[in-house]
Amino acid sequence: MDEFRELMGNKLNEECGCFGIYNVKDAASLSYFGLHALQHRGQEACGIAASDNKNITCYKGKGLISEVFTNKIIEELPGKHAVGHVRYSTAQQNQIENVQPIMVRAHQGSFALVNNGQIVNAEEIKVELENQGSIFQGTSDSEIFLHLIQREEGTMVYKIMNACAKLEGAFAVIIMTKDCMYAVRDKNGLRPLSIAKLEDGYCVSSESCAYDIVNAKFVRDVEPGEVIRIASDGIQSFKYTEKTQKKMCSMEYIYFARPDSVIEGVNVHNARKLSGKLLARKDKVKADIVIGVPDSSLSAAIGYAEESRLPYEIGLIKNRYVGRTFIQPTQKQRERGVRMKLSAISAIVKGKRIVMIDDSIVRGTTMKRIVQLLKDAGAKAVHVRIASPEFKSPCFYGVDTSTYDELISSRLNVKELKEYIGADSLKFLTIDEVKEANGPDLCVACFSGKYPTNLFSLGNIIKK
Ligand code: SF4
Repeated sequence: MDEFRELMGNKLNEECGCFGIYNVKDAASLSYFGLHALQHRGQEACGIAASDNKNITCYKGKGLISEVFTNKIIEELPGKHAVGHVRYSTAQQNQIENVQPIMVRAHQGSFALVNNGQIVNAEEIKVELENQGSIFQGTSDSEIFLHLIQREEGTMVYKIMNACAKLEGAFAVIIMTKDCMYAVRDKNGLRPLSIAKLEDGYCVSSESCAYDIVNAKFVRDVEPGEVIRIASDGIQSFKYTEKTQKKMCSMEYIYFARPDSVIEGVNVHNARKLSGKLLARKDKVKADIVIGVPDSSLSAAIGYAEESRLPYEIGLIKNRYVGRTFIQPTQKQRERGVRMKLSAISAIVKGKRIVMIDDSIVRGTTMKRIVQLLKDAGAKAVHVRIASPEFKSPCFYGVDTSTYDELISSRLNVKELKEYIGADSLKFLTIDEVKEANGPDLCVACFSGKYPTNLFSLGNIIKK
């Protein structure tokens, strides 16, 4: 896995994408297409559970949606309701027990659950539950949900609300019983989740880009602290707490989400474009062309070019076929990782002073190699502009950066980092500019070190 991550560019990894369909014919088949549109959120494993109002059938496996599911498998998932999941996992968590949907089959009723996020008091709750006799199959946080829900008494919605009230951190959850669906977001709204209308039923998705592919019409975001119950008599809204705030993950706009998604009313492409404009507004650098690192930085590069009135060019080409099958490279191949993933177009960059936009610098090794790539192709100067602030603190809400040591900006200042990556100049967006581009109500903890929740035992790795 580390080799794969190295090869694919040392970027951040989101944990998951969730999708649900309620009361629509061929729900499993539509979920397949919805999950296809969310594949960028996780490529390691996936699954779909479907219900025909009597039984819930589930199928899951490791790999891309197109690798795990065949027509025959989809046909064996009958019913008008379905939930699905795509997952990115760290090497330690890549066991089949962690692949979602996670199922409960109990005499009180069966249900399937998918989740995107990370619970920060998971360890504490897990120990408590184990002391009370719970047995966990895997290591995923989502199993904690199941145990907490199962221990509660009363209606399903009441059980879900009581379970959520015990959890801190990020979660965006879809729960499917035989005949109902529930969409739930944590009280800080850290991960996206919304609902849409489709024929006589509903869709729930991590990102709105999945609605287009099934022809569903966006209705609204699930609110922080809200539980939406979708049933044959329509939708109902409940709040499990009044202590809510909006702290959407800013990296959703900066890097994770697809440009055609709309999150909290903001289109991701437009937000990235504005970030590029803001980078250009304070920049006096002399350059000939603007390029972006494909794919997530292209919108910001277009914005920078528009604002600076410099020509926008395609200077780097991504090789789309460096895929998951290439996961055991030799050391020599690993060193060539970036060259396999990206190529510089010499005819464009040779002899030019280039402004190169990227969305973020995490570990720094990729950026160093890209700068070298452009210089080897004849670039006269490479001015690196980053459409986010310096990534200085780990994320505890489901994004795969676990330690300070991995984050180069926690060790080097901007001048040192410029030297390290070999750029002619280096500038970042400020936190205020991130909020100007994406909206004021954001989590920016990985830039500011100020976390919107208590971190419980995870906080032990915070640098003193
Ligand atoms: S810490 Fe950073 S990556 Fe994590 S939720 Fe907050 S903004 Fe997103």
